[in-house]
Amino acid sequence: MTDSVLKISGLKVAYGGIKAVKGIDLEVNQGELVTLIGANGAGKTTTLKAITGTLPSGKVEGDIAYLGKSLTGITPFKLIHQRLAMVPEGRGVFTRMSIHENLMMGAFIREDKAGIEADIEKWFSVFPRLKERSAQLAGTLSGGEQQMLAMARALMSHPKLLLLDEPSMGLSPIMVEKIFEVIRNVSKEGVTILLVEQNAKLALQAAHRGYVMDSGLITISGEAKALLNDPKVQAAYLGE
Ligand code: ATP
Repeated sequence: MTDSVLKISGLKVAYGGIKAVKGIDLEVNQGELVTLIGANGAGKTTTLKAITGTLPSGKVEGDIAYLGKSLTGITPFKLIHQRLAMVPEGRGVFTRMSIHENLMMGAFIREDKAGIEADIEKWFSVFPRLKERSAQLAGTLSGGEQQMLAMARALMSHPKLLLLDEPSMGLSPIMVEKIFEVIRNVSKEGVTILLVEQNAKLALQAAHRGYVMDSGLITISGEAKALLNDPKVQAAYLGE
């Protein structure tokens, strides 16, 4: 028995001549909140895309195991059925559907109608702003509101692994606080999370463990608290 939810081994990704990911190992265990931090262009989003099978085949080398099985060749659609959910950079809400419809779409693999309604109410109480606007088209929401909706929609599928790509990007400080409060609470409820973030401080404060990525390689990894106290991490990523 292993409690490994995600295990990436020797991952390499090249776009033509550009080596975006140069051979990384990364693991996320059951119930953990793990963060992957690093500067622009370090290869974080590419790593998430490799996990979700959204890169053209032939560009990816190495192995990615999810719940003990290789994800090689899997399609994004199948991943939802495997309970792997992703909130991409830029949110990816269904812009021409209402908030309520977006949440229903998040639950499309479930059949427990009462549970789905109860979850929608739960997310409306976490994000009252979504409740007030439940009939509004998602495309007309503010960036922060779309981030709330994208997270709630992903969680409607009851994921065994939640991938978050830069959830704080472009949000006001208050909204960033709110989103991180929700991430911490969702983690406390037991959801396993891989969080890609440029806001290294908030990410490490919330996470159990962290990986630092630089130019396609993992350069430092360890307990999040240790990384927060690491002078190299402080100098390069925490502005201290
Ligand atoms: P950011 O925080 O800015 O989103 P990142 O760490 O997520 O950065 P990636 O988006 O993974 O970085 O990009 C890693 C490298 O791969 C960059 O040099 C980028 O220019 C390059 N890259 C990404 N996508 C492509 C693509 N489709 N074609 C060519 N190069 C790409």
